[in-house]
Amino acid sequence: MNFTDLGLSEKVLAAVQASGYTTPTPIQTQAIPQALQGKDILGIAQTGTGKTAAFTLPMLSRLELGRARARVPRTLILEPTRELAAQVEESFAKYGVNHRLNVALLIGGVSFGDQEAKIMRGADVLIATPGRLLDFFDRGKLLLTGIEILVIDEADRMLDMGFIPDIERICKLVPFTRQTLFFSATMPPEITRLTEAFLHNPVRIEVARASTAASTIRQGLVASHGAADKRETLRRLIREAENLKNAIIFCNRKRDVAIVHRSLQKHGFSAGALHGDMDQLARMASLETFKTGDVSLLVCSDVAARGLDIPDVGHVFNFDVPTHSEDYVHRIGRTGRAGRSGVALTIVTQDDGKYIDQIQSLIGGPISWEGPSFAELPEPAIRRDAHGSRSDRGIRPREAGDRSGRRMRPSSRQETPGEPEKPITQMGAFSPKGYDREFIRSRPVTDERRQRIPRRHFEDDGPPVIGLGDHVPSFLLRPVTFKSEPVTEE
Ligand code: AMP
Repeated sequence: MNFTDLGLSEKVLAAVQASGYTTPTPIQTQAIPQALQGKDILGIAQTGTGKTAAFTLPMLSRLELGRARARVPRTLILEPTRELAAQVEESFAKYGVNHRLNVALLIGGVSFGDQEAKIMRGADVLIATPGRLLDFFDRGKLLLTGIEILVIDEADRMLDMGFIPDIERICKLVPFTRQTLFFSATMPPEITRLTEAFLHNPVRIEVARASTAASTIRQGLVASHGAADKRETLRRLIREAENLKNAIIFCNRKRDVAIVHRSLQKHGFSAGALHGDMDQLARMASLETFKTGDVSLLVCSDVAARGLDIPDVGHVFNFDVPTHSEDYVHRIGRTGRAGRSGVALTIVTQDDGKYIDQIQSLIGGPISWEGPSFAELPEPAIRRDAHGSRSDRGIRPREAGDRSGRRMRPSSRQETPGEPEKPITQMGAFSPKGYDREFIRSRPVTDERRQRIPRRHFEDDGPPVIGLGDHVPSFLLRPVTFKSEPVTEE
């Protein structure tokens, strides 16, 4: 199948050719002809499958007829994060070089004025995060009655981030007759319900998960003690890595992103960071320095990195084992792209056994240990307490863990504060997100906003802790023995 067989316009085909693409990916082959016919699409696909072009190219072809009016955009693309929105904007710039279309971006952390000016000029394509879009709408700066095509991208991520009430509201604000192109990597029940309510006879297209294409990635587990030893382990892995060109380092919490970032810089590594507390400019700058190779290490949280298209990353290091196994697949999918080889190493402590089990069952096989397993792991040279300070107290006796990691202790929520903490806003590249906070505070608390309770929390929020939380003190786990007393009959 060629791009010329899909029914795309001449202008679009010329741009595709200029991009250097020769063959459409499976999602493009299946989605583009249907989208050009105006059908609703339910695409079950994740980043890396070429799904952005699968909706961008037919949209460009269809937008060649007609013009946008002031404040009434013609098409709307909803993205869960600012980075993804900015990435889609780049795709429109690339594939739309032969078009004279107005593309507007509505995302948090960017000044209202510039965004408003673009919308006033008449946007052919509006790319937005749901919250900012509704704020514009509620302020009367925007009408959604002209939307011909609605794209909802990364719907399962929207669910994770608590955006579903916003999405439902937006779906009701756009005309009933619009075309909807809906993409999600997974189909949890809430997403299925949404598609049933808002898609009209959609064509369902499912493409293989990126995890199945991970054969080019060498995966490994690296045993480490907790807290500061993990940072030492990370440094060793970076130093010992063969042909390390660049690497993404994942932490579970933004607080740890800041700590690891600072620690790497302190040890002379060229490192940047990306997490949700950085303002938009700092995030973009950080990403750009990594893309251009000015820094070779990028420390990230899952939310900040999800869906980012950073081609040719050689190594992924999981500083923390992700607590949601799907995040593991997304993380390691940053490397080994487009048939290139990649390395994904995960630092594992004794507390991570449960999560490693879940990951291994999701990817359908064991991940082997690189270097010593827990049983063979030497004691750390310097003992540190949970705060990274030297400690003369003995370290908890290790429990034997076999090479599959199955006998490791069940998980408790990990505390790895490490080096003495500073507020994130005082650290290097991070700047306060004051503008956004002010902005959020100024928004009316509607019932929908109240309902916007994330399915799970991100970064350092963690799930709500009830009672003792996940952690059960070991004394409570000891079997209770009763002294048997002779039963006396009265
Ligand atoms: P996406 O899944 O949209 O994030 O795309 C992942 C990467 O694949 C991006 O870097 C695209 O530029 C690239 N890409 C998209 N379509 C094609 C294609 N037909 N051939 C080669 N690369 C592509």
